[in-house]
Amino acid sequence: MKTTSYRDTWAEIDVNAIQYNMEQFRAYVTPSTQLMAVVKADGYGHGAIEAAKAAIAGGATYLGVALLDEAIELREAGIDTPILILGYTAPHAIERALEANVTLTVFDHEVADAIIEASQKQGKVANVHLKVDSGMSRVGVRTPNAAYELAAKIHVSSSVKLEGIFTHFAHADSTDFHYTKKQFSVFSSIVDFLKEKDIIIPVKHCCNTAGTMNFKEMHLDMVRVGIGLYGLYPDESLKNHSIVLKQAMSFKTSIAFVKEVEAGQPISYGCTYVPEHTSMIATLPVGYADGLSRLLSNKGYMMTKESKVPIVGRVCMDQTMIDVTNLEHAEVGEEVTIFGYDHHAFQSVDEVASLMGTINYEVVCLIGKRVPRVYK
Ligand code: PLP
Repeated sequence: MKTTSYRDTWAEIDVNAIQYNMEQFRAYVTPSTQLMAVVKADGYGHGAIEAAKAAIAGGATYLGVALLDEAIELREAGIDTPILILGYTAPHAIERALEANVTLTVFDHEVADAIIEASQKQGKVANVHLKVDSGMSRVGVRTPNAAYELAAKIHVSSSVKLEGIFTHFAHADSTDFHYTKKQFSVFSSIVDFLKEKDIIIPVKHCCNTAGTMNFKEMHLDMVRVGIGLYGLYPDESLKNHSIVLKQAMSFKTSIAFVKEVEAGQPISYGCTYVPEHTSMIATLPVGYADGLSRLLSNKGYMMTKESKVPIVGRVCMDQTMIDVTNLEHAEVGEEVTIFGYDHHAFQSVDEVASLMGTINYEVVCLIGKRVPRVYK
């Protein structure tokens, strides 16, 4: 499949798979639990707008992003579903966030004051969620008293609605549930403490994909599904789960050039690969600037219509070589699949991640801006 761009490298995004994945979570959680689709980082590389639309069609009623710019992109695309910025928004950006009807995360007084001021100025009610650090040691209030001081300030302001309170798990993708249970207990005790002080917050949430799959009792009022939305499991241990996911992204390229290379002739930068026999080498118009990691040099595999072939030599910025000696045919223009679905085979993002020594999240997020996304 070609794209409207002139490139012969592209990422195919199966939006039906994204919708299907969201539907799996919708069916798994109780009807009263809302689904937030986490579409930050351009929908984990899949395209935030298309991912958000598919997730909404699959049952998501909230969207999660990391940055105000990401929220604005969704609003400008006409998406009016509630959006929560999960991280920090600086005071200077608060007015714009309120104009865009975006829900903000609060965990410090400076931001809370800026929200109160901006909402009064605009004469509108700002929606906020209070972030609790229950053990991730990232942003968030850590103690019941710190949570109370911030919540009370917001609670008395008529222009700010404390819609939600949330925390984030550090280790929910593990088979050792100990730490997540500890985090949940810290979070619950803060929620209870606020309740005793008559601060009742309607939307309590703590589960990411792994939390959602591993801890039904922690779903509360909303779960935040990121990696699972794109059909990827947060951990191998979850692959036997009753939620069966479909990988939504396939990364493809096509052969630009094929030539014979004699034995002893090094291939690519650093001369790290030297064929022992005369070989047929194909050059592909894809490199690390596209998100094909240099860590796959002399390690990764790609799929042609005949079989799997190895990457030989170092992955360059814009080009990569594969050894096609064992193929009957390898012609210019022929499609090559880096990961995802081929006509006859499938290479998972997880396999690529494992060769790179990283996680599937990073592999899809790395797919660069200059790689056109083709939606099907
Ligand atoms: N919630 C928060 C606060 C996050 O930062 C993230 C992602 O990093 C998610 C939810 C989604 O996590 P996952 O992709 O593991 O589902």
